[in-house]
Amino acid sequence: MKKKTSILVCNDDGVYGPGLRPLVRALSRLGAVTVVVPDQDRSAVSHSLTLHAPLRVRTVGRNFYILNGSPADCARFGILGILEERVDLVVSGINHGFNLGEDVTYSGTVAAAMEATLLDKAAIAVSRGIGPEGPASFAVAADFARKLASEVLRRGLPQGVCLNVNVPALPRARLRGVAVAGLGRRVYGRKITGRVDPRGHRYFWLAGTQVSSISTPGSDVAAVEAGRISITPLHSDTTDRPAIQALRIRRASIT
Ligand SMILES: [Mg+2]
Repeated sequence: MKKKTSILVCNDDGVYGPGLRPLVRALSRLGAVTVVVPDQDRSAVSHSLTLHAPLRVRTVGRNFYILNGSPADCARFGILGILEERVDLVVSGINHGFNLGEDVTYSGTVAAAMEATLLDKAAIAVSRGIGPEGPASFAVAADFARKLASEVLRRGLPQGVCLNVNVPALPRARLRGVAVAGLGRRVYGRKITGRVDPRGHRYFWLAGTQVSSISTPGSDVAAVEAGRISITPLHSDTTDRPAIQALRIRRASIT
């Protein structure tokens, strides 16, 4: 008997993330879906792993688990602890908000997919631009995630590569196709906001509002601005190969 396709879904928006259920529903058409997600919004925690505190898992439905950990914890625990490596594909998302350009450095959504890649599992991170939060509004992104997932299940991905997908928050009729794109640039405000709490102590907000994006041709930023879904292959090896040569030359002059 052919074994059923096993898909693990993680996210960083947590159990109440608006894109989670639409994604699970769409992927259920491809196989058995197991959900392991953080118990709260863990956006922008990047690739952190919980190594100094116990992880607690709660079962909240059939094949549906929440963890008091990070998105990368969820991917790792889902693959190794719950599914015991019987995973054909990991899909992380659907994140509420784009993960473009340097966002991938901070993104928990991308980190969950990358953790799966490090464990030699095919993985896709899916994000959607900020827009309406109702389940219907995630239908376009969920549909695309299903089609791409089906393709990845069939063809696999190169070793060390996961896909970072961004879907504009547009109705289906206004989407302008799909672009395979490199990472662009996002420009965030550098201001730190300081306030005073009711007890007279100062506190700070780091989170900068996005000011603008730099729309380099061929980038994910340019793609979504043009109404296209962007797919960016990300590699776990972040070495800058040309810089190796440049550093070799420079090192020669200081030794
Ligand atoms: Mg998020």
